[in-house]
Amino acid sequence: MNNVNIDKDKVNNTIPSWVTPITDENIGKLKRQYYYEENKSKLVKYCGEDVDYILNEHKKQNSILFTATKELMKKAKDYNSAETLVLMQNGTRRADYTSQYDYENVQFKLGMKKVLLDNGEETYTVLHNHPNNSNFSIQDVLTFIGYSKITQSILCTNSCQYTAILLKTNNYKSFEVNLITKIISFLISKDILDRHGSASRLIKLLYRFGVCYNELMHYADNTEGMDSSEN
Ligand SMILES: [Zn+2]
Repeated sequence: MNNVNIDKDKVNNTIPSWVTPITDENIGKLKRQYYYEENKSKLVKYCGEDVDYILNEHKKQNSILFTATKELMKKAKDYNSAETLVLMQNGTRRADYTSQYDYENVQFKLGMKKVLLDNGEETYTVLHNHPNNSNFSIQDVLTFIGYSKITQSILCTNSCQYTAILLKTNNYKSFEVNLITKIISFLISKDILDRHGSASRLIKLLYRFGVCYNELMHYADNTEGMDSSEN
């Protein structure tokens, strides 16, 4: 885990009113389990035949993903609740953090891009938070499918109420997904799609090509799911 030098001047910036400040109390409400057996019917809806794969995969990885999500939110809190990103090497606890002290954007550092594009065989999980508590954006999904070494993407809302996960399964169809990426990128370049817009339709389309989606509600202030799950 790399140490991040936090710029105190920037940290003291005022948090915009539409941002949910991250609190220790909310981080404490994060549940340990990502995948519950009783969620299986919901998983079937989103993962089709891959449901057993995803349950097994996450049983194996549960504690490491839980710890990584908690670390992400602690780090994001230190970054004044701004959007923060963690790149974690799968099978290890090696993680690298970054934030641009921005509430709507976070990008990979150069070093992160380097490891994602080199010839190594290791794979990664990327985690980030959304200060306005929204679900994955189209850009988030494009980033997830745009790097072959990223096998999982985890999103946590600043409220810590929801965690959403995208996972490439053994049935991942990279040829078809690359085609979809090109079409979506074209639509963005023509201003037909907003890269910050909801990814619900795109996520649904990707179920057919080996991308699983699931979300976990951590506490019960309201019972409705995140926007991309029900549309
Ligand atoms: Zn995002």
